Amino acid sequence: MHINIDKVSHQYETKQGMLPVLKDLSLSIKRKGFTAIVGPSGCGKSTITRLVSGLIKPTQGSIFISNKKITSPLSTVGMAFQNPVLLEWRNVIKNIILPLEIVSKNMTYNQKRSNALDLLKLVGLEEFENNLPSELSGGMKQRVSLCRSLVHSPEVLILDEPFAALDAFTKEDLWDVMHKLKKERDFTCILITHDLREAVYLADQVIVLSGRPASLQYDVKTNFNEEKKISDLYSSEVSQLLATLRNQIEIAQNKND
Ligand code: ADP
Ligand code: MG
Repeated sequence: MHINIDKVSHQYETKQGMLPVLKDLSLSIKRKGFTAIVGPSGCGKSTITRLVSGLIKPTQGSIFISNKKITSPLSTVGMAFQNPVLLEWRNVIKNIILPLEIVSKNMTYNQKRSNALDLLKLVGLEEFENNLPSELSGGMKQRVSLCRSLVHSPEVLILDEPFAALDAFTKEDLWDVMHKLKKERDFTCILITHDLREAVYLADQVIVLSGRPASLQYDVKTNFNEEKKISDLYSSEVSQLLATLRNQIEIAQNKND
């Protein structure tokens, strides 16, 4: 197993007192696996991404990556979010190399640019290397954000609803971009999403969290097809899985806080 979340509980200090967000959460993600995490809004999904990247420490329990306990922020993790947060005054290539300026200080500019260009080609944007973010569509910005999250070759990629703000067809294009990136750059991936079709299309494991404080409610393998195509989402096998997951979400939403 690559990532082990071991009996993790987490609470935040708020003006109203302690807010328990995760409760006794345990789950394992295999090396080079792709795990989607779904669950009701506010149940603690983004908290999990902050814990796994080492940005915050759990109140109880531990998280291990390659059997090493996480105690501080990790440079072996890449992250992308719903909002691509690109720096408006930097062109595409200079946005992508940002993580290298922090973790690979000895690399020359040409090496950094070459790493970034390899990724830009994979996502189909090689002609936009000199454009500013304001000249890109939402889908293009998100492609750039994915390149930036992978440019330092992280072992783990964490995606927190990166496609949630995109229209349906752009979203499907981005799913295929993800398949390509995953095939070419072998990382372990955690995807937070509200979209069950997205979870099933991209991931080989789907985790449903219970309502807050969240613990593991349902854990299913989804490898229905090695080379997934959008049309596979309409097969009876996948429809059945989607119905099961939808039902699990309903159960999670009905749980009292
Ligand atoms: P999700 O991503 O599943 O929507 P989050 O992990 O962002 O949920 O948040 C879970 C709960 O914790 C929410 O009720 C949120 O308001 C609260 N929360 C998140 N971050 C903090 C924080 N830094 N301080 C206090 N409360 C927080
Ligand atoms: Mg969130």
